[in-house]
Amino acid sequence: MGGKCYMDEVNRIGRAGDLIREPEMILRIGVLALQGDFMEHMQMVEKCGCEAVKVRLKHEFEGIDGLIIPGGESTTFGVLMERYNLIQEIRRQALSGMPIFGTCSGAIVLAKEIEGSNQPRLSLMDITVRRNAFGRQINSFETDIDIEVLGEPPFRAVFIRAPIITRVGSGVKVLATFEDKIVLAQQGNLIACAFHPELTNDLRLHQYFISLCEAYAKKRMGK
Ligand code: GLN
Repeated sequence: MGGKCYMDEVNRIGRAGDLIREPEMILRIGVLALQGDFMEHMQMVEKCGCEAVKVRLKHEFEGIDGLIIPGGESTTFGVLMERYNLIQEIRRQALSGMPIFGTCSGAIVLAKEIEGSNQPRLSLMDITVRRNAFGRQINSFETDIDIEVLGEPPFRAVFIRAPIITRVGSGVKVLATFEDKIVLAQQGNLIACAFHPELTNDLRLHQYFISLCEAYAKKRMGK
């Protein structure tokens, strides 16, 4: 294919990604890049063989097969999501089935209830979270946890001023606990994770999320 032809084709279809996608379908995973450690998530996504797409603006959500909301500061996320008019857009995508993976503060903004706070949020998952649940002395620590859906070996979980999930609704499946506290849960296409899987070399949790994105992409394409 000559350069000009290729560019004509890209212009016609609109995005180079659409051309690459067939026939072997490369998934495009959006990473919300308003704040926090989105670069680490983008690297994990690329290591999983997908295209990582930085998203900030409403139109950038078009054509992504899933969304990761990284760790950072949930109050800042909420304010920025409101300012960029993203709350409605992300809710719309989630309700149409797009998988969302919220890690640490990403998990907080996914929750319907945040203990003692009315900060802005997506209110998508039927869970209650408690922010900074491990207290001030141990703001950060690492530990191995068992995650049944990933199998052996245990997963190295990095907790940084982490929340816990203190209530799950009937449609929510608990995927992992640490000292009897819920730290990973799934409600259909939504995953809330209290720790930081992007700060390890273990791709399994991202791969698990990407498998949801793949199913969603295939469904959308009628496959
Ligand atoms: N404590 C932060 C909050 O409440 C979350 C910390 C993190 O994302 N590592 O949003």
